[in-house]
Amino acid sequence: MINKDFLLKLLSQVGPSGDEGRVSRVWREEAEKFAKKVYTDTHGNTYAEFGDGKPTLMLAGHIDEIGLMVQYIDDNGFVYISGVGGWDPQVLVGQRVRFIGKDGKVVKGVIGRKPIHILKPEERDKAVKMEELWVDFGMTKEDLEKVISVGDYGVLDWDGEFLTDFRLVSRALDDRIGAFIVLEALKFYAQNPGETRVVAVATVQEEIGLRGAKTSSYFLNPDIAIAVDVTVATDYPGVDKRTIGDIKLGGGPVLAKGPNINPVVFELLLETAREEGITVQIEASPRGTPTDANFIQMERGGIPTALISIPCRYLHSPSEMVDIRDVEGAVKLISSFARKISGKTKEDFIPW
Ligand SMILES: [Zn+2]
Repeated sequence: MINKDFLLKLLSQVGPSGDEGRVSRVWREEAEKFAKKVYTDTHGNTYAEFGDGKPTLMLAGHIDEIGLMVQYIDDNGFVYISGVGGWDPQVLVGQRVRFIGKDGKVVKGVIGRKPIHILKPEERDKAVKMEELWVDFGMTKEDLEKVISVGDYGVLDWDGEFLTDFRLVSRALDDRIGAFIVLEALKFYAQNPGETRVVAVATVQEEIGLRGAKTSSYFLNPDIAIAVDVTVATDYPGVDKRTIGDIKLGGGPVLAKGPNINPVVFELLLETAREEGITVQIEASPRGTPTDANFIQMERGGIPTALISIPCRYLHSPSEMVDIRDVEGAVKLISSFARKISGKTKEDFIPW
């Protein structure tokens, strides 16, 4: 059984790209219970290891989330914000926010916009832009500047919640769920290890350009890598399956296939899934994926890389939704794969 308390604790931490420390500390604390070695590099990526044989398998899950940053405080104490990562500004209207102010103190506010009563007809029809929104902390500029400064980080004020036994909603499931899976997979591997040296990595700054994947994969120089992220589910209204395929919540973890994925690793993952009785879904990815797998594959002389994704609805909103059975499938698949590749070397993964 996966550790739901740890998952909910991870989800409740504020950690936009560049300010992942709070989340990383919770991840690290959990890792120290079973990993042989736990350490953090100068970029902020945190590593948890088990085993010291061959090959070295890197499991990457990004610990950062999309967030907000204080850009400008006006004379009345209204705060203009920038997105840290890719926001649809429509999602932000009317939301409550949680910023981390001076000395780590939480400061709460709301995102304001003119109400419908006074919107001009042409304004009603237009998508709202970030610069038309502000955060109202309910304080004067003078009081606010005692607790909040330009450059401070915030997130939408939501934590994780199980709607049913299996369906979990939260902000930051992208990609706290991946950071969770790589550590749970390490834990399962540690209970029944092979020769493989498995290193789970909580990477930083993925949402602003896969930046932690670059530094961590160079630093670790693994023989093989698996990135774990979320992918767009297509099982809800208005999605054109002809263009992005058929991906369901509860349909199992998703294996990406395409140029970003080493074909030998892909086939071995499929074989492992078959042997273990894990249902998987396949996603066509005809270019570099927008995930850590992209930069990891291109590090040094090329690292054999795969991408396992968890189907997710309503990505980059405060109510992202996943099915925990897909998460359990991914944990089992990765820990079994780690055992299966015992004793292999990088050369075993030359694609042809
Ligand atoms: Zn992600």
